[in-house]
Amino acid sequence: MLLYNTLGRKKEEFIPVRPGKAIMYVCGITAYDFCHIGHARSAVFFDVLARRLRHLGYDLTFVRNFTDVDDKIIARANNEGRDWREVANTHIAAFHEDMDRLKVLRADFEPRATEYIPRIQEICSELVAGGKAYATPSGDVYFRVRAWPQYGRLSGRSLDELVAGARVAPGEEKEDPLDFALWKAAKHDEPFWESPWGRGRPGWHIECSAMSAPWLPLDIHGGGQDLIFPHHENEIAQSEAAGNAALANYWIHNGFVQTNAEKMSKSLGNFTTIRAILKNYLPETLRFFLLSKHYRSPVDFTRQGMDEAEKALKRVYSALQEAGCALGRGKWKNVDLPEDMRREWKILPEAFDAALDDDINTAQALGQIFSQARLVNRLLEDKNLRGGEGGRKMLLEFAERALNWERQLGLFGAAPAAFLEELRDIRAKRKNLDRGRVADLLKRREIARAGKNFAESDELRNRLAEVGVTVRDTREGQIWDLE
Ligand SMILES: [Zn+2]
Repeated sequence: MLLYNTLGRKKEEFIPVRPGKAIMYVCGITAYDFCHIGHARSAVFFDVLARRLRHLGYDLTFVRNFTDVDDKIIARANNEGRDWREVANTHIAAFHEDMDRLKVLRADFEPRATEYIPRIQEICSELVAGGKAYATPSGDVYFRVRAWPQYGRLSGRSLDELVAGARVAPGEEKEDPLDFALWKAAKHDEPFWESPWGRGRPGWHIECSAMSAPWLPLDIHGGGQDLIFPHHENEIAQSEAAGNAALANYWIHNGFVQTNAEKMSKSLGNFTTIRAILKNYLPETLRFFLLSKHYRSPVDFTRQGMDEAEKALKRVYSALQEAGCALGRGKWKNVDLPEDMRREWKILPEAFDAALDDDINTAQALGQIFSQARLVNRLLEDKNLRGGEGGRKMLLEFAERALNWERQLGLFGAAPAAFLEELRDIRAKRKNLDRGRVADLLKRREIARAGKNFAESDELRNRLAEVGVTVRDTREGQIWDLE
């Protein structure tokens, strides 16, 4: 499997340090607010990467941390008159709720920063002892960036460039504007832990060096592109300056989610929470939307994009449902499928695997799924083929392949009929459809048809069409849908 390594900026064959095993550490959320679509993108992508590694047979250990003490958590707690621990716990629980809905599998280990305070202090002490860090009179500890010549390697920035952007905030006692905090002296009314430098709490970057320490060297370290600098650059400096050969071999970063082509970030105030999105769309629609672009490309989050994702999902689920119905009808004659169809049907799953092995190209993998749905539709529409034994086999395989898509992508695993009904319901809700009125019109139409009053039945069909409802008459009765 090829993965794009930010360290070196090229695709590389994935070769784990320990044969047959893979260790992946992904930076998790700072638990002070509900997750937005940017978090969903990162979580869904690394979930697919984890699923793929397991599918390939690696014994994967997946670690994703929580930052549960931080300026933003403390600020929120103070504003709302709550305990900072309660603020963190609430948002960690909300993270689990949101991610469970998106079928993001739980990580094997979910360390929290506050559980690693002794380890954090140990690393700080080692760095101070080795001259790579220093404590200030007021009890802060800073990393001495100039004592670590490799600094900037991951993000590709030179020290000169960094100096231009570096600032010293009022009250900071840095030796050099480039230095960053490992440990912060506690201000009045802040949570604190006792330390060799007085009462204080950890800086953000050092947490990850402590929480990843039991697993070094990591095969994969991941996160959003916004973490490359300074967060991941600082993690490397801390972990490696503390005596570790390498923090991680593959650095994998997912792209931004943009709305109106701006980076999705809270500071810009244009974020959309997962729970707000899931009031209007099914979780699988959001998951599909996020996987329909390559993970390193920026994604524009738009209503139109979500509607298109919904239509695409519906196409595949409809094919799965039709395939199931056709299988149920039985009566299979001995007709073979045309050669081109058989060949394509055989090649498509191989292309699906190849796409995932090429830097987790989910956009292409989804394309292979659509091609399979198209072939199934072609089979179902062709009277001459429909009854053939080859066709029966193809439809059975289609259902089996959907189970594989569910395992690897977390998509197409729902029962098709139930999914299509849920999809119709959420679209009806989004369009403010008057369900009572629709039910009434459908009932009247059913009665008209039973009485062979076709003029009235057609008139009722037109009235349903006016509110965007289409009706199909089947042996099982009327089936309605939204245009
Ligand atoms: Zn981190």
